[in-house]
Amino acid sequence: MTPRYCAHVGERLWFQEDPFRGTCFSLRIDRLLLDEDTGEQHLLLFENEAFGRVLALDGVVQVCEADEHVYHEMIAHVPILAHGAVRSVAIVGGGDGGVLREVLRHRSVERAVLVEIDESVIAFSREHLPFISAGAFDDPRAEIMIADGAAYMDAPGEAFDVIIIDSTDPEGPGAVLFTQDFYAACKARLAPGGVMVNQSGVSFLQPDVMDGTAERLARLFAHRTLYTAPTPSYVGGVMALGFATDAASRFAPELETLRSRFDAAGLATRHYSPEVHKAAFALAPEVLRRIG
Ligand code: SAM
Repeated sequence: MTPRYCAHVGERLWFQEDPFRGTCFSLRIDRLLLDEDTGEQHLLLFENEAFGRVLALDGVVQVCEADEHVYHEMIAHVPILAHGAVRSVAIVGGGDGGVLREVLRHRSVERAVLVEIDESVIAFSREHLPFISAGAFDDPRAEIMIADGAAYMDAPGEAFDVIIIDSTDPEGPGAVLFTQDFYAACKARLAPGGVMVNQSGVSFLQPDVMDGTAERLARLFAHRTLYTAPTPSYVGGVMALGFATDAASRFAPELETLRSRFDAAGLATRHYSPEVHKAAFALAPEVLRRIG
């Protein structure tokens, strides 16, 4: 039987991402590793010549071996180095462990709480994508919680210097993570001067996700914008990430400041650099016009 979100083209089996606005991103399946329903979502894992191991949830690419470092370095190091004194981080979603891995590379981070709704994603990523979490799930500074991120943030609890929302797209269990109420709940759980970043869709195919995120963040934070992470497997334009804080000093730190923090952190990165950090916030005029 042909797995969901797959089709035979000639002799070969292809993954066909859930069609979106008349487009469909296809990847040849060179080796099918897993095809299962977790109860929360459909999970597919396969190998592809160009992207390596690929995880798709509900027919949408989540993480690829070949380019995950771009997204995970940018969603983790940008808020942490912009903040400059991070000790506690919350990650909502992020079940593959890539964001947790990058966050815990910062020696200043004493505690990282990952709130993931689907335990299967963690279990499966540990087993089949161990290079992505790279042991992060077992770091003594990490606390892994299986819960709806919205319910977690809504409840009274500890404050965090940085909150990272590494969610699926605004469908299914991920939809609640794009709402005003959720962002307000996250803001209430930010320590003074804290920074929040969130997955905000791909610029060309999901302008409404980008614009909607920017608008909702603007209602809550003194300073908010978008920045970009050019991740090839997130098809449909450059991946946009929301960035929000009430602390002006943490909104757009000088390049020299970022350089000294980056050097002090002793990070060896593949995509992130202080220069890439600053450049990522340079948005196209039409985007700036839209988000104000
Ligand atoms: N980097 C990917 C992207 O940008 O699309 C996201 C990767 S990560 C696998 C997304 C995670 O969000 C999934 O493991 C999914 O189970 C989790 N998730 C979705 N809705 C959630 C919710 N309401 N609370 C917590 N985790 C959620």
